[in-house]
Amino acid sequence: MSTSNLPRLTDEQRQALDDGYVAMAGVPVGEELPATLTHTQGPWIVKGVGVYAQPFVRETTIGDDDGTERSYTEGLVALVYSCGQGRMPGNAALIAAAPTMLTKLREIAKECGECSGNGVVAFDYPLRGLKVGDPCPQCEDIREVIAVAEGKQS
Ligand SMILES: [Zn+2]
Repeated sequence: MSTSNLPRLTDEQRQALDDGYVAMAGVPVGEELPATLTHTQGPWIVKGVGVYAQPFVRETTIGDDDGTERSYTEGLVALVYSCGQGRMPGNAALIAAAPTMLTKLREIAKECGECSGNGVVAFDYPLRGLKVGDPCPQCEDIREVIAVAEGKQS
């Protein structure tokens, strides 16, 4: 296969590939994070030691300056480590499920019967110690988890 039509790698990309990565992050190291965090469209799937965004999975070949070619899979979201023996598959499965879980949590919070999905108490409930505008006790914990996933809390 001719390499003339293949994309060329920058020195930074080549170094990252040499370190074992197969795709570049959206925000290069050292740059500030945007004010509003978004994530790559799901669903995400596990493939080897990587978690990939299924809508973007595609096999690609790239050419190096020396004429060599490398094949890799586009759509990489995360390379997963075990952080303890044998835990990589479990860690990968959990990470891959994250977009779907976030979507479901948003649906659950939106369908809360206590606050009609507004997230706050609509009336005073003196016997329950609640006032108008207080966080809804039924879905507050779910909304906190959503906020963490959106980068608004830690
Ligand atoms: Zn609620």
